[in-house]
Amino acid sequence: MGQQRMEYPAKILEHVEARREYAIDFLRRMVNFDSSTIDHGFGGREQAIQEWLAERLAEWGFETRLFEPDNTKMQDYPDFSRGHDYRNRPNLVATLKGAGGGRSLILNGHVDTMPPGAKEKWSYDPWAGHIQGGDMIGLGVCDMKAGVAAMILAVRFLQEVGLQLNGDVMIQSVVDEEGGGNGTLACVVEGYKADAAIVTEPTRLHVQPATRGVLLLQVDVEGRATHACLKWGGVNAIEKGVKVIQGMIELERLWLAQRRNPLFPPPTITIGQIQGGLAGSQVPGDCVLKFDVKYLPVEMGPHGQEQKITGDMVKQEVENWIHTLCAGDIWLRDHLPGLSWYQHCIPHYLDPQHALVHMMRGHVQQVVGRGIISGFPAGCDARHLHNGAGIPTLVFGPGDLQYAHSIDERVSLEEYMQAIKVLALTTYQWTCQNQS
Ligand SMILES: [Zn+2]
Repeated sequence: MGQQRMEYPAKILEHVEARREYAIDFLRRMVNFDSSTIDHGFGGREQAIQEWLAERLAEWGFETRLFEPDNTKMQDYPDFSRGHDYRNRPNLVATLKGAGGGRSLILNGHVDTMPPGAKEKWSYDPWAGHIQGGDMIGLGVCDMKAGVAAMILAVRFLQEVGLQLNGDVMIQSVVDEEGGGNGTLACVVEGYKADAAIVTEPTRLHVQPATRGVLLLQVDVEGRATHACLKWGGVNAIEKGVKVIQGMIELERLWLAQRRNPLFPPPTITIGQIQGGLAGSQVPGDCVLKFDVKYLPVEMGPHGQEQKITGDMVKQEVENWIHTLCAGDIWLRDHLPGLSWYQHCIPHYLDPQHALVHMMRGHVQQVVGRGIISGFPAGCDARHLHNGAGIPTLVFGPGDLQYAHSIDERVSLEEYMQAIKVLALTTYQWTCQNQS
């Protein structure tokens, strides 16, 4: 190991700290852009921030490319969200060429945000980047402009220290994550690859090599409508729907007792929406239920054996459960509810023993004092990079998901600075250490 290598962690940490004010200003400028999505991703306002970032990265010597996702190229992917309009919504891919001989790395994050909701409920202008009690408050600051700023500045600060990387580093600043993830999927179909990837969604600086799967299910329960004064002649679809809900609660309880993976809470079933009937004076003839089913990518048996879980396995189990429940009800037995799975966010699972997980945890330990490995509880773009492009991918970033998609969204600036430090150390070590 050369002299430069021996001293690199201390130099990097010192320099990032010296650039604190610049880093906070950079984040505030990103928050100043309104890059919110329209109609859950069918449209979006990402262009201006993408162009601003592209200019910065080009100034710093990155090869930059802005391109709009192409729906026709993505349509065969199972996770593709249909019908979104990408005019004036470019992805940004910026590559910093390494000297050669090192491992390459993708740093990925999205710049689209949710809409602000009721603006009058915000304590401050959602695009001002106001600082209060050590937090920056702003729309999308947690999910995930702090993550995007952190990954970009991590590489920039390595340049400023004068460290030459051996492997290539690629920044992917993508659009339309909130609407389903087509921005990252577009990077996958364009053929962008690397030896590993980090998605900088908010994880409270936990290193998260896996995400849960999400399935959305619609259950159409049929009854027989009549006037309430003749209720004995009808069949109440809402009451039958309640039976299905109770059955699903039981199934969730069973999962709670039996299904586990140390990275995650147990799998869950949530009734999220119920619709039925026309008026209080009528026995309702229909009831529609919508459920969110979150499942574990891998389950651990009692003796530590691992079982990979697919969406099809979960669908089959839920369908069998509902059919068994219906078999015990004279009406439902002959009028089976319609089951339609209308969305699937496929999980991703990187072996927690992977070299990048281990390396990054060490750096979190060094910077924060304790390094925690856990699972990302929701779905995110990591699945496209990992499953679609076959790139070992983990999730790591500043911010707490509980503040995402909420009024007065915020991020801890201390956590943001720590994320830059960890990302800089990991980018340097991953791209410069000999492959072994
Ligand atoms: Zn996000």
